[in-house]
Amino acid sequence: MDYEELRRLMVETQLVPRGIRDPRVLEAMLKVPRHLFVDEPMQHRAYDDMALPIGNGQTISQPYMVAVMTELLELKGNERVLEVGTGSGYQAAVLAVLAAEVYSIERVEALAVKAREHLRSLGYDNVHVITGDGTEGLPEKAPFDRIIITAGTPQVPEPLKEQLGENGILVAPVGARFSQQLIRLRKTADGITEEYHTPCVFVPLVGKYGWKE
Ligand code: SAM
Repeated sequence: MDYEELRRLMVETQLVPRGIRDPRVLEAMLKVPRHLFVDEPMQHRAYDDMALPIGNGQTISQPYMVAVMTELLELKGNERVLEVGTGSGYQAAVLAVLAAEVYSIERVEALAVKAREHLRSLGYDNVHVITGDGTEGLPEKAPFDRIIITAGTPQVPEPLKEQLGENGILVAPVGARFSQQLIRLRKTADGITEEYHTPCVFVPLVGKYGWKE
Protein backbone atom coordinates (compact mmCIF):
# COMPACT_ATOMS: atom_id res chain seq x y z
CA MET A 1 0.00 0.00 0.00
CA ASP A 2 1.19 3.51 -0.78
CA TYR A 3 0.96 4.97 2.73
CA GLU A 4 2.54 8.27 1.71
CA GLU A 5 -0.26 8.77 -0.82
CA LEU A 6 -2.87 7.79 1.79
CA ARG A 7 -1.41 10.44 4.14
CA ARG A 8 -1.60 13.07 1.41
CA LEU A 9 -5.24 12.17 0.77
CA MET A 10 -5.96 12.27 4.51
CA VAL A 11 -4.60 15.81 4.71
CA GLU A 12 -6.35 16.99 1.53
CA THR A 13 -9.76 15.43 2.15
CA GLN A 14 -10.10 15.31 5.95
CA LEU A 15 -8.02 18.14 7.38
CA VAL A 16 -7.84 21.06 4.94
CA PRO A 17 -11.58 21.10 4.04
CA ARG A 18 -12.47 21.13 7.76
CA GLY A 19 -10.35 24.18 8.41
CA ILE A 20 -6.94 22.99 9.61
CA ARG A 21 -4.65 25.80 8.45
CA ASP A 22 -1.39 25.73 10.44
CA PRO A 23 1.17 24.66 7.81
CA ARG A 24 3.41 23.10 10.45
CA VAL A 25 0.54 20.91 11.68
CA LEU A 26 -0.35 19.84 8.12
CA GLU A 27 3.32 19.07 7.44
CA ALA A 28 3.59 16.94 10.60
CA MET A 29 0.44 15.02 9.69
CA LEU A 30 1.90 14.38 6.23
CA LYS A 31 5.09 13.10 7.78
CA VAL A 32 4.20 10.87 10.77
CA PRO A 33 3.53 7.25 9.69
CA ARG A 34 0.21 6.71 11.50
CA HIS A 35 -0.09 3.11 10.21
CA LEU A 36 2.97 2.12 12.26
CA PHE A 37 1.15 3.02 15.50
CA VAL A 38 -1.65 0.44 14.99
CA ASP A 39 -1.53 -3.37 14.84
CA GLU A 40 -0.82 -4.88 11.43
CA PRO A 41 -4.37 -6.09 10.63
CA MET A 42 -5.57 -2.52 11.14
CA GLN A 43 -2.84 -0.76 9.14
CA HIS A 44 -4.80 -0.50 5.88
CA ARG A 45 -7.44 1.55 7.76
CA ALA A 46 -4.97 3.83 9.56
CA TYR A 47 -5.72 6.84 7.32
CA ASP A 48 -9.51 6.45 7.40
CA ASP A 49 -11.57 9.28 8.85
CA MET A 50 -12.14 7.61 12.23
CA ALA A 51 -10.71 6.49 15.54
CA LEU A 52 -9.45 2.88 15.56
CA PRO A 53 -9.05 0.26 18.31
CA ILE A 54 -5.55 -0.21 19.73
CA GLY A 55 -6.32 -2.92 22.32
CA ASN A 56 -7.16 -2.76 26.04
CA GLY A 57 -10.47 -1.09 25.13
CA GLN A 58 -8.65 2.07 23.98
CA THR A 59 -8.41 3.96 20.68
CA ILE A 60 -6.08 5.97 18.47
CA SER A 61 -7.97 9.25 17.88
CA GLN A 62 -9.42 10.24 14.48
CA PRO A 63 -6.79 12.11 12.38
CA TYR A 64 -8.94 15.27 12.31
CA MET A 65 -9.19 15.31 16.11
CA VAL A 66 -5.40 14.96 16.42
CA ALA A 67 -4.97 17.85 13.98
CA VAL A 68 -7.50 20.16 15.69
CA MET A 69 -6.08 19.59 19.15
CA THR A 70 -2.54 20.06 17.89
CA GLU A 71 -3.47 23.28 16.06
CA LEU A 72 -5.14 24.64 19.21
CA LEU A 73 -1.83 24.20 21.06
CA GLU A 74 -0.17 26.84 18.80
CA LEU A 75 3.22 25.12 18.90
CA LYS A 76 6.20 27.09 17.61
CA GLY A 77 8.94 24.50 18.22
CA ASN A 78 10.58 25.32 21.53
CA GLU A 79 7.88 24.10 23.93
CA ARG A 80 7.91 21.41 26.61
CA VAL A 81 4.63 19.53 26.28
CA LEU A 82 2.76 17.17 28.60
CA GLU A 83 0.33 14.71 27.03
CA VAL A 84 -2.09 12.74 29.22
CA GLY A 85 -3.20 9.53 27.46
CA THR A 86 -0.35 8.17 25.30
CA GLY A 87 -2.50 5.41 23.79
CA SER A 88 -0.74 4.34 20.58
CA GLY A 89 1.89 7.11 20.78
CA TYR A 90 0.74 8.69 17.48
CA GLN A 91 -0.32 12.06 18.94
CA ALA A 92 2.95 12.12 20.89
CA ALA A 93 4.86 11.62 17.62
CA VAL A 94 3.02 14.53 15.99
CA LEU A 95 3.85 16.68 19.04
CA ALA A 96 7.48 15.51 18.88
CA VAL A 97 7.79 16.93 15.36
CA LEU A 98 6.37 20.30 16.42
CA ALA A 99 7.80 20.89 19.92
CA ALA A 100 11.10 20.51 21.75
CA GLU A 101 10.25 17.87 24.34
CA VAL A 102 7.20 15.72 25.04
CA TYR A 103 6.29 13.92 28.26
CA SER A 104 3.40 11.51 27.75
CA ILE A 105 1.61 9.61 30.53
CA GLU A 106 -0.41 6.40 29.97
CA ARG A 107 -2.23 4.50 32.71
CA VAL A 108 -2.31 1.12 30.86
CA GLU A 109 1.16 -0.40 31.17
CA ALA A 110 0.83 -2.62 28.05
CA LEU A 111 -0.02 0.41 25.88
CA ALA A 112 2.80 2.48 27.36
CA VAL A 113 5.31 -0.30 26.58
CA LYS A 114 4.12 -0.64 22.98
CA ALA A 115 4.00 3.12 22.37
CA ARG A 116 7.51 3.54 23.80
CA GLU A 117 8.82 0.85 21.43
CA HIS A 118 7.15 2.37 18.38
CA LEU A 119 8.36 5.88 19.20
CA ARG A 120 11.90 4.68 19.81
CA SER A 121 12.08 2.57 16.65
CA LEU A 122 10.88 5.55 14.57
CA GLY A 123 13.47 7.85 16.14
CA TYR A 124 11.19 10.17 18.15
CA ASP A 125 13.85 10.54 20.83
CA ASN A 126 12.34 13.69 22.37
CA VAL A 127 9.30 11.77 23.70
CA HIS A 128 9.33 10.29 27.20
CA VAL A 129 6.51 7.82 27.94
CA ILE A 130 5.64 7.38 31.61
CA THR A 131 3.21 4.84 33.08
CA GLY A 132 0.86 6.27 35.69
CA ASP A 133 -2.20 8.36 36.49
CA GLY A 134 -1.88 11.41 34.25
CA THR A 135 -4.62 13.28 36.13
CA GLU A 136 -1.92 13.99 38.72
CA GLY A 137 0.40 15.36 36.03
CA LEU A 138 4.15 15.16 36.35
CA PRO A 139 5.07 17.66 39.10
CA GLU A 140 8.78 16.84 38.94
CA LYS A 141 8.95 18.08 35.31
CA ALA A 142 6.55 21.04 35.66
CA PRO A 143 5.90 23.73 34.58
CA PHE A 144 4.84 22.80 31.02
CA ASP A 145 4.33 25.25 28.14
CA ARG A 146 1.53 23.11 26.75
CA ILE A 147 -0.69 20.33 28.13
CA ILE A 148 -2.97 18.11 26.06
CA ILE A 149 -5.42 15.62 27.54
CA THR A 150 -6.47 12.98 25.00
CA ALA A 151 -9.22 11.29 27.05
CA GLY A 152 -12.63 12.68 28.04
CA THR A 153 -12.77 14.27 31.46
CA PRO A 154 -15.58 15.72 33.62
CA GLN A 155 -13.32 18.69 34.42
CA VAL A 156 -9.73 19.75 33.86
CA PRO A 157 -7.77 18.13 36.72
CA GLU A 158 -6.57 20.80 39.17
CA PRO A 159 -2.95 19.49 39.25
CA LEU A 160 -2.72 19.98 35.48
CA LYS A 161 -3.90 23.59 35.73
CA GLU A 162 -1.25 24.14 38.39
CA GLN A 163 1.49 22.52 36.29
CA LEU A 164 0.74 24.74 33.28
CA GLY A 165 3.32 27.54 33.05
CA GLU A 166 2.57 31.23 32.56
CA ASN A 167 1.41 31.94 28.97
CA GLY A 168 0.73 28.21 28.71
CA ILE A 169 -2.10 26.55 26.77
CA LEU A 170 -4.04 23.44 27.79
CA VAL A 171 -6.41 21.59 25.44
CA ALA A 172 -8.83 18.90 26.63
CA PRO A 173 -12.15 17.19 25.82
CA VAL A 174 -14.38 18.15 28.76
CA GLY A 175 -17.95 17.06 29.45
CA ALA A 176 -20.07 13.97 30.07
CA ARG A 177 -18.90 10.37 29.84
CA PHE A 178 -20.03 9.88 26.22
CA SER A 179 -19.90 13.39 24.77
CA GLN A 180 -17.52 16.24 25.32
CA GLN A 181 -16.37 19.53 23.85
CA LEU A 182 -12.79 20.57 23.25
CA ILE A 183 -11.79 23.37 25.55
CA ARG A 184 -8.70 25.53 25.44
CA LEU A 185 -7.35 27.15 28.60
CA ARG A 186 -4.81 29.94 28.50
CA LYS A 187 -2.90 30.86 31.63
CA THR A 188 -1.67 34.42 32.01
CA ALA A 189 -0.46 36.51 34.92
CA ASP A 190 -4.11 37.64 35.33
CA GLY A 191 -5.54 34.13 35.58
CA ILE A 192 -7.02 31.44 33.34
CA THR A 193 -9.35 32.05 30.37
CA GLU A 194 -11.44 29.35 28.74
CA GLU A 195 -12.68 28.91 25.14
CA TYR A 196 -15.01 26.24 23.75
CA HIS A 197 -14.35 24.46 20.45
CA THR A 198 -15.41 21.29 18.56
CA PRO A 199 -17.80 18.71 20.07
CA CYS A 200 -16.14 15.29 20.38
CA VAL A 201 -16.30 11.80 21.91
CA PHE A 202 -13.26 10.37 23.69
CA VAL A 203 -12.72 7.30 25.88
CA PRO A 204 -12.79 8.31 29.56
CA LEU A 205 -9.91 9.76 31.54
CA VAL A 206 -9.85 7.42 34.54
CA GLY A 207 -7.98 8.52 37.63
CA LYS A 208 -7.87 10.47 40.86
CA TYR A 209 -9.00 13.75 39.25
CA GLY A 210 -10.96 12.23 36.33
CA TRP A 211 -13.66 9.56 36.15
CA LYS A 212 -13.74 6.76 38.71
CA GLU A 213 -13.14 3.21 37.29
N1 SAM B 1 -3.29 10.10 22.18
C1 SAM B 1 -3.57 8.72 21.87
C2 SAM B 1 -3.04 8.31 20.53
O1 SAM B 1 -2.46 9.12 19.82
O2 SAM B 1 -3.17 7.11 20.21
C3 SAM B 1 -5.03 8.39 21.98
C4 SAM B 1 -5.45 8.38 23.38
S1 SAM B 1 -6.84 7.36 23.75
C5 SAM B 1 -8.16 8.22 22.99
C6 SAM B 1 -6.96 7.77 25.50
C7 SAM B 1 -5.87 7.13 26.33
O3 SAM B 1 -5.91 7.72 27.63
C8 SAM B 1 -6.04 5.63 26.53
O4 SAM B 1 -4.89 4.96 26.10
C9 SAM B 1 -6.24 5.49 28.04
O5 SAM B 1 -5.70 4.30 28.57
C10 SAM B 1 -5.52 6.72 28.54
N2 SAM B 1 -5.91 7.17 29.89
C11 SAM B 1 -7.13 7.18 30.46
N3 SAM B 1 -7.06 7.69 31.71
C12 SAM B 1 -5.74 8.00 31.92
C13 SAM B 1 -5.02 8.57 33.02
N4 SAM B 1 -5.60 8.92 34.17
N5 SAM B 1 -3.70 8.77 32.87
C14 SAM B 1 -3.05 8.42 31.71
N6 SAM B 1 -3.69 7.87 30.66
C15 SAM B 1 -5.01 7.68 30.75
